[in-house]
Amino acid sequence: MDRTETRPIELPPAIRGLNLFTTDRDLQRRLARRSPDLLPRFGERLAAFGAWVGDAVEAQADYTSRHAPPRLETHDGQGAPVGRVVLNAEYRACHAEAYRRGVVGLAYGPEPAPHLLSFVMGGVLSQADVSLHCPVTLTGAVAWVLDRLAPDPVRARWLPQLTRMDGQALTGGTWATELHGGTDVAATTTVAEPDGGAWRLTGLKWFTSNAGAGIALATARPRGAPDGARGLGCYLVPSALPDGTQNRLHVRRLKDKVGTCGLATGETVLDGAWAVEVAPPPHGLKAMLEALEYSRVHNAFGAAGLHRRALLESLAWTSHRRVGGTLLRETPMMRDALLDLAATQEASAALAFEAAEAFEAPGEDPVVEGWRRTAVALAKYWTAAEATAAAAQAVEIVGGNGYTEEWPTARLYRDALVTAVWEGPANVQALEFLRAAIGRLPGDQAFLGRVAGILDSAPESLQPVAARLRPVLESCRAAFVHLRARPEDGPRLARKLMHPAAELLAAALMLEEAAADLTAGDRRKALLAGRFAARLDPEGGIDLAEDPLHALFDDVIGQGACPA
Ligand SMILES: Cc1cc2nc3c(=O)[nH]c(=O)nc-3n(C[C@H](O)[C@H](O)[C@H](O)COP(=O)(O)OP(=O)(O)OC[C@H]3O[C@@H](n4cnc5c(N)ncnc54)[C@H](O)[C@@H]3O)c2cc1C
Repeated sequence: MDRTETRPIELPPAIRGLNLFTTDRDLQRRLARRSPDLLPRFGERLAAFGAWVGDAVEAQADYTSRHAPPRLETHDGQGAPVGRVVLNAEYRACHAEAYRRGVVGLAYGPEPAPHLLSFVMGGVLSQADVSLHCPVTLTGAVAWVLDRLAPDPVRARWLPQLTRMDGQALTGGTWATELHGGTDVAATTTVAEPDGGAWRLTGLKWFTSNAGAGIALATARPRGAPDGARGLGCYLVPSALPDGTQNRLHVRRLKDKVGTCGLATGETVLDGAWAVEVAPPPHGLKAMLEALEYSRVHNAFGAAGLHRRALLESLAWTSHRRVGGTLLRETPMMRDALLDLAATQEASAALAFEAAEAFEAPGEDPVVEGWRRTAVALAKYWTAAEATAAAAQAVEIVGGNGYTEEWPTARLYRDALVTAVWEGPANVQALEFLRAAIGRLPGDQAFLGRVAGILDSAPESLQPVAARLRPVLESCRAAFVHLRARPEDGPRLARKLMHPAAELLAAALMLEEAAADLTAGDRRKALLAGRFAARLDPEGGIDLAEDPLHALFDDVIGQGACPA
């Protein structure tokens, strides 16, 4: 027998079969604080969902991405062209099950849950499978637009198809990106032509995730409509016609991607596809942007979820792996790395929640709109950047094994990248941030007011942490004043301002949570908030003092309470 085949050492286990909701006490505390009705109403569902995701979805994600990714069937058995996406049975079953468990449907019906519930479920899903979270997001986005903007008959006919919870739900897609670019949607080339009471769409959509979706929203320009954004309409395109036959569209190619290998992202050809108008010009782009904004909030939750998984895998490895007889999690450098992952993860999740709250805030006045768009842009940008960094860190912490496909860290790393790219990369978020914060909308005032309010109301014991954040607040304030006076500097300064603004808001939210926990006698979050704030302090230097968090490591990292 080959002696190398004996296994004197057990490698640390990756996370499998963990309930990804009930083990996240930080998430539950935030839910209880921000949406007090939600846990009593849906706590049991969420717990069951977390167990299912940690087990069945996790197993499916690994299998699909490594062994059975989507493939394209170009022709049927008779040789006729079909352009049909084939998904493996496990992926299809998990996808249908997600809707049966209400990931979209619970936000509709006679006693609808807040959309926050869908976002939270999305965040849980992304801990195991971004490739499944994506179509759920798209389905929710189509439902959101139909519910808010579609004419009554269109809403009545199609919305229930997306929100049903009997396992038969249709799934959604949003088709904006074309060959000329995803950012420049105003230059859409797809043409819409009237056909009786409906429309026919002709064009090529260059990135269509959840390819083969039952219902997609597509931007198109009616023939003769003006160039640019004002000439765009938004249309509902079903994959099957009302009589059950295939619509005139097909997937001509699946993208061969870096990550989200379980997700079918295709190029979809619209060949006179039958469509229904959801929003005519000049409102079409606005309708698509509504879908995009909904997706950005989901993306923030997904990124925070992926970040959590990176932390969990790092913990699992370091809690079992010994080097020179010492458990890695006992070493000071590893403790620092794990504490940083925990602090940034909780800051990410807090920012995602802030965006969700702003997103669902009632009213359309400029203050509400300015804050909503500011918060969503900051959350989309920052959570994605942190998730990407966290996934890379997890690979490094798990080491060589973490770089192999046998560990989930490799998939996390590849999948994390997309959270920054889709729904608009960082520069696009920075431009959106500018529009919301220093254009006609007063997002700057909302931002400054929100952060200053938290810092000013922090209890005495947290004022040293608040003091570290004040210079960043003042620097953001000065940048806003400058940009209001010289808006032409916007594109040059947008990224320079967006990053500290996002980090500052995240730090302030940590402080707000810390203040609430301190009232309940728990200083865990205060310690983490202090650690996080230190990274924003330009004058911080190298802290030579012993970090109290190291002594409390097990409670902090295990999300236990630390007595005040
Ligand atoms: C896996 C995957 C799935 C996708 N699924 C879908 C889908 O289902 N539906 C869909 O419609 N799209 C989808 N997309 C497309 C995605 O939304 C776009 O890739 C994204 O919006 C960026 O567009 P682009 O790739 O054309 O880049 P471009 O528009 O060419 O932009 C390139 C770069 O320029 C930056 N930029 C843009 N404007 C400016 C400016 N004024 N100043 C400075 N920098 C700027 C951008 O931030 C980006 O970094 C998907 C993409 C991926 C990777």
